Amino acid sequence: MSRGRVILVGGGPGSEDLLTLGAVKALGSADVVLYDRLAPHARLSEFAPHALLIDVGKTPGHHPIPQADIERLLVEHALQGSCVVRLKGGDPFVFGRGGEEVMACRAAGIEVTVVPGVSSAVAVPAAAGIAVTHRDVSRMFTVVSGHAPLSETELAGLAGLASTIVVLMGVSNLPQITQGLIRHGLRAATPIAIIERGYTADQRSIFSILDRVVYDAAAASVTSPAVLVIGEVVAYARLEHADAAAVLNTAALLVPAE
Ligand code: SAH
Repeated sequence: MSRGRVILVGGGPGSEDLLTLGAVKALGSADVVLYDRLAPHARLSEFAPHALLIDVGKTPGHHPIPQADIERLLVEHALQGSCVVRLKGGDPFVFGRGGEEVMACRAAGIEVTVVPGVSSAVAVPAAAGIAVTHRDVSRMFTVVSGHAPLSETELAGLAGLASTIVVLMGVSNLPQITQGLIRHGLRAATPIAIIERGYTADQRSIFSILDRVVYDAAAASVTSPAVLVIGEVVAYARLEHADAAAVLNTAALLVPAE
């Protein structure tokens, strides 16, 4: 039997509107699709009509299929001659363990290609009207994983950069991150936004400031998946908003889902 192959596909942050043409094409040719919870998967049976669909989704703190087993499944199906699409949320190489999956395929001699995806790091802030860079406000953005607490060196580095800070997987470490950044010199009134479930029907944005956001997030029962955006661009993005002055004047503002 001829050897199959693996295509690692970035599915974007949750809406099928953000799948690329390359992603749709890859799905159309798939015999097997292994998909994550955060990838758009509602209509997979239409996008990948010939494929066996395998849900390898992880919920935070709960890993139904361990990473090693996902890699084994990719390799096994490809060795059986299948075209295997590994559909991941966002971009496969942004905190997605895509690099590990590529290495596992290569180690097994499997041909593997990558279709990049729209990353939540940029697209989810945009869903709340936030441009991660804005001339005169921030000329860089730094994307950080908040999965583990940030080290003192990382906090000091981030606080010293004058960069927009985008944190993925940061909900459970929100207190450590925000207090650490203040301790290392960020203004207590630095604007911060939390955007939950971007591009889904349940999208919600919370606007606050660094030293109040833990309270505001608890009051709003913020849950993962969410992207944190820290920096002046957050307030800047809302300047046209009637309540923007409230944000700038340190009052926390809860913005209902649009
Ligand atoms: N590779 C992905 C990121 C994987 S890490 C990418 O490029 O987007 C998973 C984290 O991404 C989540 O914990 C959350 O912080 C963020 N995320 C992904 N999709 C999201 C969405 N629709 N809304 C809010 N956050 C999202």
